[in-house]
Amino acid sequence: MLIGAIDIGGTKTMLGIINSDGIILSKIQFPTDTTDFNLLILFACEQLKKCVLDLGYEMKEMVGIGVSLPGMVDRERKLLVRSVYSGWQDFAVSEIIQKITGIQNVIIDNDVNACAIGEMYFGYKKTYRNYLWVTVSTGVGGALVCDGKLIRGASGCSGEIGHMKVEYEKPLPCPCGELGCLEAHGSGTAIKHYLEQEIAKSSDFANIFNRKGLTVDAAGCAVLAKENNRIAKSIYNKAACYLGRGLGYGINLINPEVVIMGGGVSSSLNIMHDVIMDTIAITVNKALLPVEVVHTKMGYNAAFLGAASLVLDNFNQ
Ligand SMILES: [Zn+2]
Repeated sequence: MLIGAIDIGGTKTMLGIINSDGIILSKIQFPTDTTDFNLLILFACEQLKKCVLDLGYEMKEMVGIGVSLPGMVDRERKLLVRSVYSGWQDFAVSEIIQKITGIQNVIIDNDVNACAIGEMYFGYKKTYRNYLWVTVSTGVGGALVCDGKLIRGASGCSGEIGHMKVEYEKPLPCPCGELGCLEAHGSGTAIKHYLEQEIAKSSDFANIFNRKGLTVDAAGCAVLAKENNRIAKSIYNKAACYLGRGLGYGINLINPEVVIMGGGVSSSLNIMHDVIMDTIAITVNKALLPVEVVHTKMGYNAAFLGAASLVLDNFNQ
């Protein structure tokens, strides 16, 4: 069974062909040009066609195309309702892809929802039936799976833990327009913000980045934290404390077996794990513990495999 997968992220788009066992037969990646959504979809569809032909198949052999999108998705009306990128609203994504590719079975969903569904098919599979799937990268997103089913909520936004308030005393501004959200305090963007503050305070610390040629961001900070640099570790501890708070609220609410983390910053989960677990321990009702926080089994391909899983999941509805 051939499944087309298109994962449109804010910085990169990944697309290709996957079989029903989750084996990636073909995959390409390119930077996402957020200026014109129509052009982006057109280009993605052309690339997908090329992937199919390069494998020696025909488009009609593909059973469907799954698409994960960085924004709010209306599954009933098959629309990308809104996103943080200007002009990306009320887009009939399925219809456009159907027209360009000739494939009628096009399933779209929000990227974190797609990751949470993907985990059931290609990640931990049946190991867990109740979990909170969290992505920590530029922002923080979440999705809830209860009794083996994704919870969507009234407008498809269940589990959006990124905008729960985790700081009231010294709240930082969040891209959503509010103050003190988990996304503002525990994301990769927040880690970069703390890092810039520390670099401004200490020329010695700034010099380490220059000397080692590290980027001034969460990834650069992680390199130093892994080398036990005191300031870099304190930055990650701060973000981990806020993540622990946010995850704790989610755990109290849905009583999961596990929290599964993906996204770029999740590759540094081992640096943050102890502080996250300590914070969860003081945030969560003891009756709901223990709850482990683990890295997704889909790794870097989470949203890409998640996109493909949308097609399989739709067959099982
Ligand atoms: Zn927010």
